[in-house]
Amino acid sequence: METETSKILVVEDDKPVRNLIATTLKMHGYSYLEAVNGTEALMMASSYNPSILLLDLGLPDMDGTEVIRQVRSWSQAPILVISARSDDTDKIGALDAGADDYITKPFSVEELLARLRVTFRRLNYLENLAGKESSIYVNAGLKIDYAAHTVFLNEDELHLTQTEYRLLCLLAKNTGKVLTYKYITQNIWGSSWENNMATLRVVVTTLRRKLSSQESEPMIQTHVGIGYRMVKL
Ligand code: CA
Repeated sequence: METETSKILVVEDDKPVRNLIATTLKMHGYSYLEAVNGTEALMMASSYNPSILLLDLGLPDMDGTEVIRQVRSWSQAPILVISARSDDTDKIGALDAGADDYITKPFSVEELLARLRVTFRRLNYLENLAGKESSIYVNAGLKIDYAAHTVFLNEDELHLTQTEYRLLCLLAKNTGKVLTYKYITQNIWGSSWENNMATLRVVVTTLRRKLSSQESEPMIQTHVGIGYRMVKL
């Protein structure tokens, strides 16, 4: 929910772009803070605990990916990268570091607003989930505590990004069923599902790596051309 406490931290050194984002947010009733470099971004992120970060990668003092890494060491707040870099390697690097979404410059104001709405919806969903459910999911060595938003593998806590956590919960809640690529991407990122196929593959890969343990059988199965399935081990 876009409550008074839901602040967006805008990290962008390019003044015209920063102004465009700020004006857009203001016009749509979002409250926001601005940072012009990585150092300021880290300082403000820790002082003000923003609900969402909008982050440029090309910053004057450090790479935006480093900002993602540092923020992720203590915060689960969604990070939307807005960058002129359109190479897959840059996107994958940012997502691997813990970003939740990636918008390529030049971007449309409508797209930015749509991604923000999706992100706020996800936050609400997770908050409601935390309030209403206290159930714990167990599958072999995997344990998800929905209320606490924590995941354990063989009693060791796993550190997942928001996106990895959402994907894991979605698969876990549908254990045994094959979920199509479209169903998964729409649930996680909203409507533009074709664009998120590559991202989904990356998220599944990193999630699998984190879930791998002594069990020889993978918990998340690929159904080529269809989607993914969480199997009961
Ligand atoms: Ca820049």
